[in-house]
Amino acid sequence: LPPPSTRAAAVMASSMSNAKQSLSVAVIGAGPAGIISARELLLAGHRVTVFERSSKVGGIWDYRETFDEDDLLGQRASVRGSVYAYLRTNLPREVMGLPDFAFDSKFEGSRDARQFPAHDEVQRYLEAFADEFELLQFVRFGMEVQRCVPVQGHRAEGTVPSTWLRWEVVTRPAAQLQDNEAAASSELYDAVVVANGHYSRPRVPQLPGQAAFPGLLMHSHSYRRPDPFKGKTVVVLGASSSGVDLAEEIANGGAKNIHAGSGGGGSHDSDQIIKAPNLQEFHADGSITLADGSRIADVDACVFCTGHCSAGYIYDFPFLAGTDFVTVEDNRVGPLYQHIFPPAAAPTLAFVGIPWKVIPFPQFQLQSRWIAKVLAGAVQLPSRQEMEQHVADFYASLKATGVPVRYTHRQSDGMQWQYNAWLAEQCGDEPGAAWREQMYKACGQSRKTNASKYRDASLPGAEEAEQAAREEACRA
Ligand code: FAD
Repeated sequence: LPPPSTRAAAVMASSMSNAKQSLSVAVIGAGPAGIISARELLLAGHRVTVFERSSKVGGIWDYRETFDEDDLLGQRASVRGSVYAYLRTNLPREVMGLPDFAFDSKFEGSRDARQFPAHDEVQRYLEAFADEFELLQFVRFGMEVQRCVPVQGHRAEGTVPSTWLRWEVVTRPAAQLQDNEAAASSELYDAVVVANGHYSRPRVPQLPGQAAFPGLLMHSHSYRRPDPFKGKTVVVLGASSSGVDLAEEIANGGAKNIHAGSGGGGSHDSDQIIKAPNLQEFHADGSITLADGSRIADVDACVFCTGHCSAGYIYDFPFLAGTDFVTVEDNRVGPLYQHIFPPAAAPTLAFVGIPWKVIPFPQFQLQSRWIAKVLAGAVQLPSRQEMEQHVADFYASLKATGVPVRYTHRQSDGMQWQYNAWLAEQCGDEPGAAWREQMYKACGQSRKTNASKYRDASLPGAEEAEQAAREEACRA
């Protein structure tokens, strides 16, 4: 392989030769979606500024030990959380990594060679990615995007259609968010790519009696370590992967007993974990009632693990307040053509990372590549009416098959492969390699049979996948 910077420059030069127009693009967020977008936009020849309110790339993978102790349910969303101290990935690393930047155990900087590594290994991978492609120079750290205001009637230079909106992007230094408006500044951009993540506003179920319950109520967003639950009777609500993980972790941390949901997340290992039907009602005497009518007395704490994925969190775009290009209703962000472009503002407003129950990073790359090509004028979108019709048909198909509105962006049962293949086709790329899908499925199967130990079980085809991931990266 040529040295990294030469490789990056060569890829950039070859892609730029196809670009018709170079736009100034503001990217909101330097989490995985933001830095992956930045790279694709640069490759297509655009001028990129990434705004990141924290001081590092990585998004949720830039672990914070702190949480808001006055707001354990995370309703103020004042502290970025979601990742806990002992979190390990729920996907094998080879699958998570990008096709042209392998996340194998040998990547430079690797310190945790496990196939399902701890969160800080993912952070190292993302920092290595930003270094390799020299992206940090495009990121303005400590800057929060406060508002994006559409500007009509301005033409960008070159061949950009006059109907395309431009954007006034208002930012403020994140440290001064509590101060007055004086610190805000604004700049005009040709386009905005929203990559602000969707794991910072927890969605908390409202159950009867909840307000009067004397015990501790916490969303997994605020959970960091099992220590506060030592010797306690704990209810873990939700049986998604976070529910299963936290029940195990709290049990191993010395809780007296744990009543955990028994849904699709798989089986538990620890003796203290008692499988329980769904929680129905809280009571002021510290007891709770379950769906089968049984009652558990003296409950000390309840942890809401209502999903890693968007079922447990709310999509939120405060910087678009005052515009009506998208709304969020019951966790449907809409209308969005292909989960990316709001037809009325396309293509200069685009969203990366909305689908869930997917392999995130490779999909971010495909979405970003498509956006970058559309903005460059190398790929055309359908008309606004056609996109609106497409979204309406999509909603109708969800309704006809009984899919709840809040699952609009859920891509289970193979939907992500179809969607990714479609995106790749738009970009003129080959469809993704088959090994990734096979390994993803093998991992899902393994998790189903052993939810608490699957991370340390050997996955069939793991060595071949690591080899394939490396070869794929070399070819790229
Ligand atoms: P984020 O990581 O949330 O990053 C968004 C960034 O935008 C943040 O840095 C934030 O500070 C910034 N930002 C937000 N608003 C503004 C603003 N107004 N101005 C400036 N900056 C702003 N994925 C996997 O691939 N493997 C896993 O094993 C896995 N496990 C997970 C476990 C948990 C508990 C959770 C919650 C998620 C997990 N995920 C996993 C999914 C994970 O969310 C994605 O990997 C990825 O972090 C999403 O990237 P993102 O850039 O969309 O969002």
